[in-house]
Amino acid sequence: MRISVDNEVKHILSSEIDGSPFQKYVSKLATAYKDDKMVPPKVGTQCKSCEFRIDESKKAAGLKSGFEECWTQSQGLKASDFARPLVFDIWNFRKSQKLIEDGRFFMDELTESDIKPQPRESEPGLSSSERQWLQVAKVQAHDGAPFTDIAGLSAEFASWKFPLHFIDFETTMVAIPFNKGRRPYEQIAFQFSHHIVTNSGTVEHRTQYISTERGHFPNFDFVRALKKALSGDNGTIFRFAAHENTVLCQIFNQLKNSNEGDRDELMSWIRTVTTSTDDSVEKWDGKRSMVDMCELVKRYFYHPDTRGSNSIKKVLPAILATSEFLKAKYSKPVYGTQGGLVSLNYRDWQWIKVGPPGSILDPYKLLPPIFSDLDLETMDSLVTDGSITDGGAAMTAYARMQFTQMSEAERNRVSAALLKYCELDTFAMVLIYQYWKDLIERRKREEAAA
Ligand code: SF4
Repeated sequence: MRISVDNEVKHILSSEIDGSPFQKYVSKLATAYKDDKMVPPKVGTQCKSCEFRIDESKKAAGLKSGFEECWTQSQGLKASDFARPLVFDIWNFRKSQKLIEDGRFFMDELTESDIKPQPRESEPGLSSSERQWLQVAKVQAHDGAPFTDIAGLSAEFASWKFPLHFIDFETTMVAIPFNKGRRPYEQIAFQFSHHIVTNSGTVEHRTQYISTERGHFPNFDFVRALKKALSGDNGTIFRFAAHENTVLCQIFNQLKNSNEGDRDELMSWIRTVTTSTDDSVEKWDGKRSMVDMCELVKRYFYHPDTRGSNSIKKVLPAILATSEFLKAKYSKPVYGTQGGLVSLNYRDWQWIKVGPPGSILDPYKLLPPIFSDLDLETMDSLVTDGSITDGGAAMTAYARMQFTQMSEAERNRVSAALLKYCELDTFAMVLIYQYWKDLIERRKREEAAA
């Protein structure tokens, strides 16, 4: 089928960018590129996720920061200013563009009236504005200590049923479907990891699933394997952020339109462990609906090292650097040992390693690369879906395995690497749980001794 896009092209050609007609603007860019001249930057909140914003370690390695070049040229910032946290790094803050336009770029220039913190109306925990002000206040006080609402977390802990289940999915959505008969941008769930923690504190990487077979739509086998993994008991299930709930609700709809023999059974199970999404016609709130650990972080915990990000990849290194309990427990090769912590992918693994100068190395950076020609950071950056901040590496790996010719040996090697990464994602949730549990128990001991 041929579709005319004449109207779309006419619309673009007649549009204006920055006050210039489209074609004139493109010529201006082409000339700047040809003459190797910098286009005067227009800085703003979009610079928060600038691809040329690099950290201190990269600068120390001799790389230049395009981000700093833009802000120096357009706003006259000095080198020392880049050590001051910027307003757009305040978590979930909508007023930063206005502040930047008013010439107020830094968190240390704000007052409480800029944020106006208001408590939640009925639910427990920090509201968004309270958390934003907490972040700014800690910057202004040069306070690097984490905030934990231990009473709030204790109440949440008391509502959970053992054994606890921690799950994480790897998924992808692509414009050109991998499988015949599927639609563009349809959700594909190709991997999950599943840790379990018992009442006595035993940790086990219990189950996992991965489908790397070319041309096979994996979602229904994925949900069958997940149902089997979680159906042995009625323990609380944890996810980190909304993604796992969204994906299961999408598979619910895919099942509805399928001819799978067990679709009713799978659909009714999905209803028990999810809450219907806002765009769903049918509404439900499963009796075993998953608990969102990211929501617990937002309400009860803030670590200044995360710089306002609630990504598990920021929270994990922050708690590992802080918790003496975790350092004592995981600074030895105790993970995946015989008679110790059960793992499906690791043997005698040490999660906490100290790097120069005395810092804890990021556990994700301890893992072997998935591909020899792409590092993890590059793989993550290849995915630009704003709703998914983690998991870009797995998506890239899956797409490569679907689209490229790959030997069986290479496919097995990539698959083994993906299994390790996903296991760390759920183990990271276990570590956050253990960190909070230690804080709660320590508080109880202190109160009993007082
Ligand atoms: S820092 Fe410069 S390159 Fe980066 S987003 Fe801002 S204006 Fe664009």
